[in-house]
Parts: sequence; C-alpha cells; structure tokens
Amino acid sequence: MKTREGIGMTSRRTRNRMIDRLMEQGISNHSVLNIMRDTPRHLFMDEALSSRAYEDIALPIGHNQTISQPYIVARMTELLVDHGVTGRVLEIGTGCGYQAAVLAQMVDQVYSVERISSLQDKARRLLMDLSIRNIKYLHSDGGWGWSDFAPYEGILVAAAPTEIPKGLVQQMKEGGVMIIPVGPQGDQVLQKVVKTATGYDVEDIEPVSFVPFVQGKQ
Ligand code: SAH
Repeated sequence: MKTREGIGMTSRRTRNRMIDRLMEQGISNHSVLNIMRDTPRHLFMDEALSSRAYEDIALPIGHNQTISQPYIVARMTELLVDHGVTGRVLEIGTGCGYQAAVLAQMVDQVYSVERISSLQDKARRLLMDLSIRNIKYLHSDGGWGWSDFAPYEGILVAAAPTEIPKGLVQQMKEGGVMIIPVGPQGDQVLQKVVKTATGYDVEDIEPVSFVPFVQGKQ
C-alpha cells in the first residue's frame, strides 16, 4: 500500500539523500542526523515548495524570512550538543519552527523567541500538531533574551546581528555556549561563544549567510 511517506520528493529515499549529503559535508553526530531524517521538513513550508524541502537550500517562509538550509541547522545543532548541552536552550528566531523542532528532540526544553508574531503562531500550531511539546514561545525582540528562564546552557541565534548581543551573553550559564552568526550581510561568520568566569571566548566556525537580526517586534 502506498502512503504519503512513500511518494515523490518527500519519500524516505529523498530524506536519506539529504542525510548522505550532510555526512559528506562533515556532520557526524548521529543523533542530529537521525532526528533530521525523521523530522518532516516539507511540512514547515508552503506546499508549493515542499518538493524542494530536502535540497540543501534556504527557502522562503513569508515576511522576507527563510527556513535555514539543512546543513546550517545540522551544523548549529551539532555544535551545541557536542559542547554537552542537554538542558535548557534559548533560540532566537523561531521562524517556521524547523530548527526548534530538531533542537527540541535533543534537549530538555527549548525557549524560542520570535519578533514576527504571525510566523511564530504558525510554527507553534505545526509543532503542536507534530506533538513536540517541550518548547515555550515568546513574541519579543530576541535582543532582550528571555530572562525568566535564564541562565541557559545553550543559545542558538538564527539571524545575524553586527555584534554579539551582550544581553544574551548575560543570560548564559558559565561554561555554556552560544552559536551565532555575526556580521553585516555578505560578510557573516558563524561563531561559537563560550561563557567564562570573567567574560567569554569566541571561536570562528565558518562563513555563513543569514537574514539580519532586526530590532523591535511586529
Ligand atoms: N530557525 C528558523 C530560521 C528563521 S530565519 C527556521 O528553522 O526556519 C530567522 C528568524 O529570526 C526570522 O523569523 C526573523 O523574524 C527572526 N528574527 C530576526 N531578528 C530577530 C530578533 N531581534 N528577535 C527575534 N527574532 C528575530
């Protein structure tokens, strides 16, 4: 019997191809790979685009925003969990909710902040439908973080500010990690920030291209 699983571009074979590509690109954490194989990425975008969901590209999700390409989601998640993060993670930029869905299957609790309420509402509904319940949502400018649940073991930022937001560093646990793209459009680098007793250490990971981190909410 044919099921939706077995048909066309969203089939198991298509998903396996995405995982093979991620491994070729250097993603090695098996939990990350397995979770991304099993998370239905095609549901996080308009149906018209779903045939391209498992290609390694960013795709539009409305409001001039994009769902991050699979490689970036995998890389950021791997950097976080390989640092040893298992507890509370703050995500800035819920977007369509795909990164949150992957993260929530790897850590205890995700706190996800988004400045565009309609995007966040849609993401919340989908994640509820997928029975992913360990995510709390806040409609706010992520530059403020979410102090109610700080400090966080991990912070993952899905939009690029021109410099590391100090307010977010304040909400990190000592020894905790933040994965964040930093820099102007066309010249961004993914950074791994580790909080120390006296400040923080920064490691450059690789060049990236993210939508800008925008102040205020709408
Ligand atoms: N994690 C998302 C990627 C979304 S793109 C995914 O898996 O698809 C980045 C998101 O960050 C956009 O939805 C954008 O509205 C949001 N964003 C940009 N600046 C922000 C800010 N200051 N606070 C909160 N969200 C912000």
